[in-house]
Amino acid sequence: MELLKQKIIAEGEVLPGDILKIDSFLNQQIDPETTYAMGKEICRIFSDVKIDKVVTIEASGIAIGLVTAHELGVKMVFGRKNKSNVMVDDVYVADVYSYTKQVTNHISISKKFLEAGENVLIVDDFLANGSAALGLCNIVEQAGGKVVGISVAVEKAFQDGEAKLVEAGYRVEPLVRIKSLKDGKVTFVED
Ligand code: 5GP
Repeated sequence: MELLKQKIIAEGEVLPGDILKIDSFLNQQIDPETTYAMGKEICRIFSDVKIDKVVTIEASGIAIGLVTAHELGVKMVFGRKNKSNVMVDDVYVADVYSYTKQVTNHISISKKFLEAGENVLIVDDFLANGSAALGLCNIVEQAGGKVVGISVAVEKAFQDGEAKLVEAGYRVEPLVRIKSLKDGKVTFVED
């Protein structure tokens, strides 16, 4: 997705540990125009599939998950990293290791927001080692749903997330693939 590549080149910062910071348009300040364009592009890519729900993870998946769900005309539900005090309902839980924070979070989604037989699209901001996406797939499947695909804004293709997800049988569709963040420079995988 050319627009997203240009935003990353213009505004992205490479941090130690192969972290790409794009907090000026996605991870803290959110640029609606870019985010809506991402949602539209995800819908275009998955236009061959019936999607009943979008599932993402707080916090940074919510904006892109919301615009995707809006474009599809379906509901979006996000996994919570910490169980809220008001979350008294039964929940599905999966453990997700956070690449950026280096801690394991118990991700939960209330059972009442997922239904058996639903076709679910997983959406997130980044794909690195695949832990977040695998955790969300696990939760959808506990509920008896079918994961029809996984889309992320940015895949760090030098990490093994996509390989793990593809091996597990999932369709993975990133909007951009990064080949390297070496020496502070962002290099994309050529389309
Ligand atoms: P994974 O679970 O695939 O290892 O990592 C994906 C999750 O970690 C995403 O939900 C994202 O929030 C975070 N993440 C991984 N790599 C990066 C990165 O380079 N930059 C940012 N901002 N977040 C990242």
